Amino acid sequence: MAADTPVTLLILGAGGDLTHRLLLPGIGSLLKVEPSRKVQIVGADRTDLTAAQWKKRVEESFATVPVPARPARSALAKTRYQQTDLLNPEQLSALLAGCSGPLVIYFALPPSVSMKVCKLLENVDLPDDTRLALEKPFGGDEKSARAFNAQLHKLVLEDHIFRVDHFLGRSTVFNLIGLRFANRILQPVWNAEHIERVEIIYDEDLALEGRAGYYDGAGALRDMLQSHLLQVLGVFAMESIADLSAQEVQDQKAQVLRATHLWGGSAKKSSKRARYTAGQIGRRKIPAYTREKGVDPSRETETLAQVQVEVRNNRWAGVPFTLRSGKALGAPRKQVIAYFRPVPHLPGGFDNTAAPDKLIIDLTPGAVSFVLTMNAEGSPMDLEQKTLRAELAPGWMLPYGEVLREVLDGDNLLSVRSDAAESCWRIMDPVLKAWKAGRVPMETYPAGSAGPAGWLPADSVVE
Ligand code: NDP
Repeated sequence: MAADTPVTLLILGAGGDLTHRLLLPGIGSLLKVEPSRKVQIVGADRTDLTAAQWKKRVEESFATVPVPARPARSALAKTRYQQTDLLNPEQLSALLAGCSGPLVIYFALPPSVSMKVCKLLENVDLPDDTRLALEKPFGGDEKSARAFNAQLHKLVLEDHIFRVDHFLGRSTVFNLIGLRFANRILQPVWNAEHIERVEIIYDEDLALEGRAGYYDGAGALRDMLQSHLLQVLGVFAMESIADLSAQEVQDQKAQVLRATHLWGGSAKKSSKRARYTAGQIGRRKIPAYTREKGVDPSRETETLAQVQVEVRNNRWAGVPFTLRSGKALGAPRKQVIAYFRPVPHLPGGFDNTAAPDKLIIDLTPGAVSFVLTMNAEGSPMDLEQKTLRAELAPGWMLPYGEVLREVLDGDNLLSVRSDAAESCWRIMDPVLKAWKAGRVPMETYPAGSAGPAGWLPADSVVE
């Protein structure tokens, strides 16, 4: 769809955190890059907001970007808000009756409410060209994800459904495609013959930051590994693509996820979980997770998760992919690291041995580094590692701007297809079951530390 076609963006849950912190700034960053884009933002939520209060919220979010005056004025003139109980069928119908197509309905709602609203939408006349944008978590396990997909398919066709994973909107993740497929030097070595192991790590120094309501019901595995990190794995490991069409990328990503299984087939052996205890990060004193406001310790929610998987295909069989993410860690680290195998023969006579070559992709801020071994300066009989690093310019848009652009244009390139969403749960369901049954111990780590000892090989920590 051409970018100058006017589109209505109906945000359900417009009074919530996602809308305020991510969606409105995202749309603002899109307007900054494409000032002539025509989008009418309609907010709906049960929160009682006047038109002026809503406009002020939009204006404040735009100011964080900041959006230039002309597109900001134009968007603010058109935006409106409708107080709606979305679980009330009459109010929902009245809301939709006031929206014309092309229409994007963005579900910025708690997942359980989104499912109920979708059921009610079966009885509503949706405008022509209605697209649905859904947030993670998409379902709670493989079975519920399948049921949700079936419900959505009663409303619109699959190519009108956008399961949002804003990691795919990060230019650094998308850059993996250019890096992998535009470099002759990487093509022959991107496989199990040359790559020994891969780590996909998203360690944060942020603790709970007041988000117990969401996080305590989710935990690190659902919040990060089951969604974002498996999507990154999909792009890292997929077969080559003929072009950048949504179908090509979706097909290849889905194929990789279908082939992905827990390492050794056992949740007990391939997964680890832990929770932070009291500690300090910089000057911040962090209470134990179980003492954070709103946390129910009996839920046994993990704040650090690590799972090893294998992509069982010809290219990757035998290569462990370690996915790991956690909160309140001392050294934030958001990287994909490919560790290469040692050379078949190192000439005799060197005083030391070579550490493996590494390719490190920093997800934020974006950078690509090759860590290579060469003769040490001034001591040619020694080997030492040197890093060649290329910083990537920050993306033109916030990740949510990238994602929203695709949704508004009706392009599924960055969204998660139904089969891929189900595969991600199929991979992680056994881990969740094993954890629930207590078959994997809950370890602890002090906030501000590097996490429990021994989870990653000693050479995996990169300064
Ligand atoms: P919030 O709880 O902050 O916002 C949800 C909004 O929906 C609230 O304003 C809530 O009103 C409203 N709402 C709930 N039920 C109804 C109803 N029946 N009718 C009308 N409005 C209703 O959640 P978030 O914004 O944090 O999250 C929304 C979605 O985005 C979730 O799926 C989450 O997993 C996902 N997400 C969130 C991220 C974030 O950083 N916030 C990041 C990535 C994904 P009330 O307050 O009265 O309940």
